[in-house]
Amino acid sequence: METRKIAIVGAGISGLLACKYTLSKGLHPIVFESETSIGGVWTKTVETTKLQTPKPAYQFSDFPWPDSVTEDFPNGHQVLEYVESYACHFNLLKHVKFGTRVLSIGYDGPPAEAMQSWSLWGGDGMPFRSGGKWKIRVQDCLSLETETYEVDFVILCVGRFSGIPNIPEFPPNRGPEAFHGKVIHSMDYAAMDYQAAKEFVSGKRVVVVGLQKSALDIAMECSTVNGVERPCTVLYKTEHWNVPDYLPWGVPLALLYLTRFSELLVHKPREGLLLSLLATLLSPLRWAVSKFVESDIKRKLPLKKFGMVPKHSFLQEISSCAISTVPEKFYDRVEEGSIILKKALAFRFCEDGISINGEVEPLNSDLVILATGFRGEKKLVDVFESQLFKDCLSGSPNSIVPLYRECIHPRIPQLAVIGFSESVANLYTSEIRCRWLAELLAGTFKLPSIKKMEEDIEEWNKYMKRSSGQYYRRSCIGALHIWYNDQLCRDIGWNPKRKGGFFAELFEPYGPTDYVSP
Ligand SMILES: Cc1cc2nc3c(=O)[nH]c(=O)nc-3n(C[C@H](O)[C@H](O)[C@H](O)COP(=O)(O)OP(=O)(O)OC[C@H]3O[C@@H](n4cnc5c(N)ncnc54)[C@H](O)[C@@H]3O)c2cc1C
Repeated sequence: METRKIAIVGAGISGLLACKYTLSKGLHPIVFESETSIGGVWTKTVETTKLQTPKPAYQFSDFPWPDSVTEDFPNGHQVLEYVESYACHFNLLKHVKFGTRVLSIGYDGPPAEAMQSWSLWGGDGMPFRSGGKWKIRVQDCLSLETETYEVDFVILCVGRFSGIPNIPEFPPNRGPEAFHGKVIHSMDYAAMDYQAAKEFVSGKRVVVVGLQKSALDIAMECSTVNGVERPCTVLYKTEHWNVPDYLPWGVPLALLYLTRFSELLVHKPREGLLLSLLATLLSPLRWAVSKFVESDIKRKLPLKKFGMVPKHSFLQEISSCAISTVPEKFYDRVEEGSIILKKALAFRFCEDGISINGEVEPLNSDLVILATGFRGEKKLVDVFESQLFKDCLSGSPNSIVPLYRECIHPRIPQLAVIGFSESVANLYTSEIRCRWLAELLAGTFKLPSIKKMEEDIEEWNKYMKRSSGQYYRRSCIGALHIWYNDQLCRDIGWNPKRKGGFFAELFEPYGPTDYVSP
């Protein structure tokens, strides 16, 4: 049999998993990684950042966390060590080409018009075709020399939370250039070592823009350095149900949101009449569960006192994967005044700091840290040479990035994306996707017609718009992970029911180890 060459772009968690599972099918992966080490986002987190997902949900199905890691929420260094030991254990490093940036990928196959007339992915529904290859143009990050590789299949694992910072847009002359102080993105802060970061913020009036994980961690670090003398202001647009822990009223959150029963309360894509009826009948319970969690968060954190009670439900928060964990004692810092929370629907820069729409006095500052996220989608789209493929992957601005099973674009042959759509435990999600993809590549199953795939994507698009509100482009499967996994299992011929017994099946939370073997 011909040796199939696979190019994997990125050696974060997704790329390593893709490497392991393609190897398991006798394929020949080569992983291109622009950095000099594996681990992706975990190589450069803010020093005090911890895993937000409880450890058992963020683990490789066949490689448990070592006993030495006793914390439920390990820190960034521990996560990186865990990922590194996984890669060593499965001998993956020899497949990684470090310091090699993929500049672009070009498809060498049938002309665009022919591809547009296809009714099956790749023309025949198969992952490989004799008349189609991808040309991968890479650059050595040190010598800057370029080289082109030819492969049979591409797996894009470029990550969503790194690379291209999301910088808000400002009117002319009212952006960072108008400010006499310094403006950086959270990724620049994360790239500094702890001591350098401390020195950098020391004595400065810092404004952190954002209210997600990096923003909260950076604000905490700044307040540790500067105290109440020079408080750190956190500027946010929308309140979030950021959680103090995963035990609302002593009940594990996983019992409330990661079981088959919890998914019965939610309207699902392609659910059929009976399940739809059940979700409607159970909607009061769905509301009550959300209120139950919200009341616990309000009990533990002084959200009301500081005007931080969100307008949306906790269910929407978890369905849009927007939950962050609040660092321990964060609100103590707010109470003492070393962190100030300030809402701003819109702002612009002025000479002395930030001018908030509707306020006369500017917010004077020396340093603004934009913890405003990343443009992961742009990174994904930019890598294509073909405008047609760029447009395909971008999809419409009013819908999700159109990926079947969150992995395959029906109109881009011989290519998969892993790690774009989110969940609350992304390692678990990437692993099951890589297993599905490996089976597809091995010929265990065939994809349905392009039309059917597009219909399926549209059903998920409707679900995500309904469940995630303005955050639908995150393509979050967090509140329907089991329903989603069931589809992958059925495709690859596994029994989707992974627990023993009716009650366990219904009420036990699902996690990575449920899928350790077929
Ligand atoms: C601060 C922080 C905390 C997080 N905490 C959690 C958490 O608690 N739970 C959770 O589920 N998720 C969390 N996440 C999400 C996290 O991104 C995923 O869990 C996971 O690590 C993503 O892995 P990945 O391989 O898909 O992407 P990444 O880790 O981003 O890896 C992508 C890799 O691709 C490489 N790359 C990109 N473009 C190219 C190119 N053109 N050429 C070559 N190489 C390229 C990059 O250098 C990088 O190494 C967190 C993210 C951040 C930033």
